[in-house]
Amino acid sequence: MKIVALAGGVGGAKLAHGLAQILKPEELTVIVNTGDDFEHLGLYISPDLDTVCYTLAGLANPETGWGRVDETWNAIAQIERLGGPSWFRLGDRDLATHLERTRLLKEGYTLTEITRAFCKAWGVRHAVVPMSDSPVRTIVETDEGDLAFQEYFVHRHCEPRVKGFRFEGLGSARPATGAREAILSAEAIVICPSNPWVSVDPILAVIPIDEIQGRRVVAVSPIIGGRAVKGPAAKMFAELGIAPSALTVAEHYENVVNGIVVDSVDSELAKQIRIPTLVTNTIMKNIQDKTELAEKILKFIGTLS
Ligand code: GDP
Repeated sequence: MKIVALAGGVGGAKLAHGLAQILKPEELTVIVNTGDDFEHLGLYISPDLDTVCYTLAGLANPETGWGRVDETWNAIAQIERLGGPSWFRLGDRDLATHLERTRLLKEGYTLTEITRAFCKAWGVRHAVVPMSDSPVRTIVETDEGDLAFQEYFVHRHCEPRVKGFRFEGLGSARPATGAREAILSAEAIVICPSNPWVSVDPILAVIPIDEIQGRRVVAVSPIIGGRAVKGPAAKMFAELGIAPSALTVAEHYENVVNGIVVDSVDSELAKQIRIPTLVTNTIMKNIQDKTELAEKILKFIGTLS
């Protein structure tokens, strides 16, 4: 079965990892949000792409969910000592990725080509593609003004109150070639339990909706028992005047999905969801959890018309 997974960083990477345990390399393409990408210290940084690739490669830091395992922090410590910006934590091994990616971009390679080459070097056999090779930048509109995504997320620790989101660059951004081809040949699309506002919506904004509609599309709720497992998703729902819940996640995606996966703790709430719903454990703490959830999702997809 050919599957496309739409993923942000941490939540997306976990489920992509589970799907990769079951599906053959030619059966899975992970399309990754690049709205979080930014330039920092003169380097092109693509946090969600790296989180997905490091996770699939077995190189991710299991504690944080981002960055590399067995990391050291010498470079950033020296940058701090010199008075440079150290709020965005870049480990020494991770820095190599950003240095080499920036060099290759300057030589004219696309982000898609670079990601493919890095995946090969890291032993990642499933396809990982950025949503677009053109820049799309998520802007968080807050009570303190507009903030570039990483400024809001990392530098300001998601403290400013969210009023809305904007994706700059959409006008000229096209889906990356591999992303469009994968969608067109996919039997089903899995929206991973990533942040709907800032991880999945940018991807859905770049990929023409009519190419997704008509396929079986299943989303996994990142909100469990009214809370996000990690990160600001629930806070964003609340600040936008929407009660964070698996139900409001289902409503958020109602024009795109024909099935939703919610956690067992939300079994009562699930009765109010109007589309086919799979209720199961969706907390992924280890590779078994990831694989079991992926298996159940693939079976659930088989039941959808
Ligand atoms: P980010 O770009 O690193 O924030 O990554 P994502 O958007 O992919 O992931 C953040 C979202 O993943 C949050 O809203 C979390 O609630 C969700 N998440 C993280 N781990 C899990 C998990 O094990 N299960 C579920 N259902 N959601 C998760």
